[in-house]
Amino acid sequence: MTDRLLTALPAHAVRILDVLESAGFEAWVVGGFVRDVLLDRPVHDIDIATNALWQQVKKTCKQANMHTFETGVAHGTLSVLPAPDADIIEVTTYRTEGAYSDARHPDAVCFVNTIEEDLARRDFTMNAIAFHPAHGLCDPYGGAADIQAGIIRAVGEPQERFGEDALRILRAVRFASELGFALDPQTLEGANAQVERLKQIAVERIATEMSRLLCGPHVHSVLMDCPVILDTVLPELTPMRGLDQKSPYHIYDVMEHTAYVVENTEPDLLLRWAALLHDVGKPATFSVGTNGQGHFYSHAMVSADMTAQIMKRLKMPAQFSHDAELLVRFHDTHRPANHKMVKRMLRQLEGRPELLRTLCRLQVADANAHAPEFTQRADLSRDFEVCLDEVLAAHEAFTLADLAITGSDVMALGVEAGPQVGTLLNVALDAVINEEVPNERAALLELIRTQDRA
Ligand code: ATP
Ligand code: MG
Repeated sequence: MTDRLLTALPAHAVRILDVLESAGFEAWVVGGFVRDVLLDRPVHDIDIATNALWQQVKKTCKQANMHTFETGVAHGTLSVLPAPDADIIEVTTYRTEGAYSDARHPDAVCFVNTIEEDLARRDFTMNAIAFHPAHGLCDPYGGAADIQAGIIRAVGEPQERFGEDALRILRAVRFASELGFALDPQTLEGANAQVERLKQIAVERIATEMSRLLCGPHVHSVLMDCPVILDTVLPELTPMRGLDQKSPYHIYDVMEHTAYVVENTEPDLLLRWAALLHDVGKPATFSVGTNGQGHFYSHAMVSADMTAQIMKRLKMPAQFSHDAELLVRFHDTHRPANHKMVKRMLRQLEGRPELLRTLCRLQVADANAHAPEFTQRADLSRDFEVCLDEVLAAHEAFTLADLAITGSDVMALGVEAGPQVGTLLNVALDAVINEEVPNERAALLELIRTQDRA
């Protein structure tokens, strides 16, 4: 186990440990790096914990010709660039945290003397393991065993730890989705008990954790098994749970169907958010016909409007929110796979082929989460994407920019500058897409002339 860590630890990190130790300090590699190596997952950032204060780290590193940046010194963190071609390594003084009155920011950062005390303030046992090339693992909370067993367990008393910092609640479910680990029952209970404290966390941080959760390979189980936490962030999910669709097309309730759609898509952020919210309007539009069959008339429109509200509430970037809304709005629009229909759809998606590709993939995942005998629609959406590739390869016109005429040509026919120019160009584009007129200058000018006279 430690062999793997020895192999994975870059020479630059070992050098920082050596430099600090030569100056009389202790230093360990901690946190995500140790966890990810033990999990055999790709590693990213490296964190080092030390008993040196940041000023001492700075002085020591400077003497060893390393650059440092005082980005997080208020929390005892100094960023060190061990060599010009290396990645930044964060070096943090052993610390514990004082009382948390706002569920997120400790009122005081208290430095401590031992690595064990430092590990005690970390969130989960798997994140509270330190490694040193000569001393091996320092693992006072059994993190390595929990990694082996696939368990996310709070360090110390769960409810207390989640009460100190409610972001840990979302980190727990996000790790569960990323790693496929189970939440230790007491840890889940503690998280559920403190869930109201999530309301004190900045929405941007909530959104970031939710996005990572959604892109995890095990997102289905987390969406199904942690309703108290998920529904605190997204109360719109509550009425989806257990909502029987009363339809031969469906074998799952709305929430379980949704969870499958999410997990069946590639881990692309936009696609996964759209998948999560594509049917969020179903509870509000549910009706039962005289034959006892469930209907959700206009659910795509309602879901799209709700998506826009949710994205706004979570302060997601405007373009991202807009795109998610568009995907949700059209998720249930199915047209025969031919060039004309592809171009019409492209027009509704603002002439953006990548967005249409994403829509096709959403529709495939949606179709596959229906009853097995009703998944043929997936083929239609796959064919639609193939057709899109053909339209692109043939450079067929589907935006105003693709037209063989421009606004100047329209004005040269005597149309005054203004909105009418755009309207006429749009009429021309529709005619080209509907294959009524070829995309040729003379034909289009003639069309504009007749339109303008009409
Ligand atoms: P990833 O980088 O994949 O998000 P990570 O565990 O490395 O996972 P970081 O945010 O980089 O997460 O944090 C580094 C370490 O700091 C963690 O491994 C953990 O020990 C500790 N940590 C991070 N956030 C918290 C928190 N909210 N409460 C307690 N400890 C935390
Ligand atoms: Mg990290």
